[in-house]
Amino acid sequence: MNKKPHTTPEASAILSTAILEWRHDKPYSQQFDDIYFSPEDGPAETDYVFIQQNQLAQRWRELISDESFTIGETGFGSGLNFLCAANLWLSIAPPTAQLHYVSTEHYPLHHSDLNRVLASWIDLDTPASQNNKTGDDTSNHLSKLARELGESYPPPLPGFHRIELAKGRIHLSLLYGDAAHQLDELQASDHPLFVNLPTQSQPYGVDAWFLDGFAPIKNPEMWSPALFSIIANLSKPGTSFSTFTAAGNVRRELTRVGFDVEKIKGYGSKREMLRGNFVKQTRTETTTDEKKNNPYTPVKRNSTHTPPWHLKLSNNSSRSGDKCAAVIGAGIAGCTTANALAQRGWKISLYDPSGIASGASGNPQGVLYPKLSIEASSFSRINLAAMRYASYFYQRLSNKICHTNPQFQTSPNTSTSGVLLLPANLKETQKFLQIAECYRQTPEFVRLLGRKEMEQISGAPLTADSGLLFPQLGWVRPTDICQQLTQHPNITLIGNTITALQWHKTKQYWVLNTESGSEIHHSTVVLANAADIQQFDITQHLPLNTIRGQISICPATQESQKLNTVICGEAYLAPASNGFHTLGASYELSQKDTLVREAEHHSNLEKIRRTDTQLAEVLAPLDTFTGRAALRCVTPDYLPLAGPAPIYDDFLNDFALLRENARAHIPRAGSYWPNLYINCGHGSRGLSYAPLCAQIIANNLEHTPPPLERSLLTALNPARFIIRDLKRGLV
Ligand code: SAM
Repeated sequence: MNKKPHTTPEASAILSTAILEWRHDKPYSQQFDDIYFSPEDGPAETDYVFIQQNQLAQRWRELISDESFTIGETGFGSGLNFLCAANLWLSIAPPTAQLHYVSTEHYPLHHSDLNRVLASWIDLDTPASQNNKTGDDTSNHLSKLARELGESYPPPLPGFHRIELAKGRIHLSLLYGDAAHQLDELQASDHPLFVNLPTQSQPYGVDAWFLDGFAPIKNPEMWSPALFSIIANLSKPGTSFSTFTAAGNVRRELTRVGFDVEKIKGYGSKREMLRGNFVKQTRTETTTDEKKNNPYTPVKRNSTHTPPWHLKLSNNSSRSGDKCAAVIGAGIAGCTTANALAQRGWKISLYDPSGIASGASGNPQGVLYPKLSIEASSFSRINLAAMRYASYFYQRLSNKICHTNPQFQTSPNTSTSGVLLLPANLKETQKFLQIAECYRQTPEFVRLLGRKEMEQISGAPLTADSGLLFPQLGWVRPTDICQQLTQHPNITLIGNTITALQWHKTKQYWVLNTESGSEIHHSTVVLANAADIQQFDITQHLPLNTIRGQISICPATQESQKLNTVICGEAYLAPASNGFHTLGASYELSQKDTLVREAEHHSNLEKIRRTDTQLAEVLAPLDTFTGRAALRCVTPDYLPLAGPAPIYDDFLNDFALLRENARAHIPRAGSYWPNLYINCGHGSRGLSYAPLCAQIIANNLEHTPPPLERSLLTALNPARFIIRDLKRGLV
């Protein structure tokens, strides 16, 4: 009966989905030969085992406004525990409080299976407003939540997926992959230095654990010693847990890692279950042996010897109490950051002398350009995570903005939209084949098309023989998006130019000087002003560069207006909007002006021709082209900077040993400025990167779980170039 795969699914691009059997319309795992929830009454079981035993109702009634609460779960399964907890949260938690629900899942349910389970709690085909058959407020939350979950359920791609539900009151992080491995990536660090610190110095933690997962006897791999150590590391005094099982090894392991464990009566006919609280003051180091014994957890050689420079230890003085922040720069990075914080109750002063979306974010059409690879490098994983989150973010925003005229021009349920990626040469054609093979189980995410199908879907005559269709991607009007994001009542747009920035150590605030000579004080600042960040003394060290990009705008012809999808290759061409297409963009390293040039219109058109000759034929002549040029801000590794701002001199001193030995053992956390964050360096991919980076900053400031794995957050950390340069002996 046991059909578990032997390879580690993290190694492949897609996880195996759960193999189910339906018994009386309830899911049953063929792989584990076990039930997902009580066939008699699933919600009642969840209520007894997880909600009551963690005393959630009482704890949530006592929350004060704006507080957040984090639940950690092993085994998301059908999402029943999540829905029940979220339902209760909406009924009793303060409306401005935030629930973070972090759940791991190694074998996600196939989307159609999830919908089938959700349909047993609600009728998914009934509009939310008609779902409330009983007139009971609680069931109304449940049906809306189930609908939202069904609509935004991620494909089985390994790693972290973030979904926001109930107008941003609930943040669901689905961590796809083995529980121990994924929860390890949630820890701010796995360095011994961090492990031995008092638990309150960790930036975030779990308040209540739902230890679900199939019975330990049927799924011993999950209930590993490594898992328990990591659970302890993510706990703090007062963290509670409950689990349906009373297995001896679970009880022993929980006790070993620092929980006070109590055996109580189980649900229904089950004799016993466990519940308890975390009572230890320090975290527990996961030993290499523990990691080795978990078949799913890759053992990182020397991982504990990498200095934890990316770690920003929290202490009370660095916590901003007033929930007010300045965001400098009102492009897509600044607007998404301002909105992410405003949604969490922050009052934002958004500074930009040129108003909203004036720089690289001001183009009439911006494309979510797919960048997919079968290699699991940090670059490709970040691009995948950003692209997925961005597509979800814009669709959600456009549904909210206006159903009749969505800014995000995709329709994932039809085949007439999305982004079509054409290969540049034979090598790329072969790469596309590999990608399509890798992602063959998720055609809703990406699939390979032949010419006939491409022409049918795109509406355009094409020369290419094959291409990749990304049905969920599309184009947006960045200015409209930025306008919409900043219309939040907590955001005030201020037209000042900030010329200098200094930390006032005694008063513990940032002093911002304006061009007009005034001085403004803010306890928290986010820098989202692209390459202008270098004008401030303390961020001058950041290795930012600018690359000029010119887009061309051409009137639609009778033929070209039939184009339904964005076409991407060497350049992109967006479907006509208000009678005009946008195509581009040029990539000029040496020029730093924003004048529109005839020669770059010509090169944009040539790039479209090289993308597809027939496509270029249907466009209007070159002399009808107008355009717009802007400067993109790029970093040396073409990944953005998203995270806390490092104190340059302290880094040089603290990690000086790296100059002599790049692998030197330096048990020090990084030194970062208090409440100063950076979100910039998005290059030509700001639309993709910005929404995810904004979440990273907001979660940092809120001390809540991040939307991305630790290894990927480190790859975005603004201090990474100081460490790189020290290792290379350049500084
Ligand atoms: N909490 C779920 C719900 O509300 O529907 C039910 C969970 S079901 C009993 C157990 C889940 O654990 C399954 O979805 C299974 O795929 C998942 N699982 C099994 N092994 C796992 C592992 N090593 N890491 C993460 N999840 C795992």
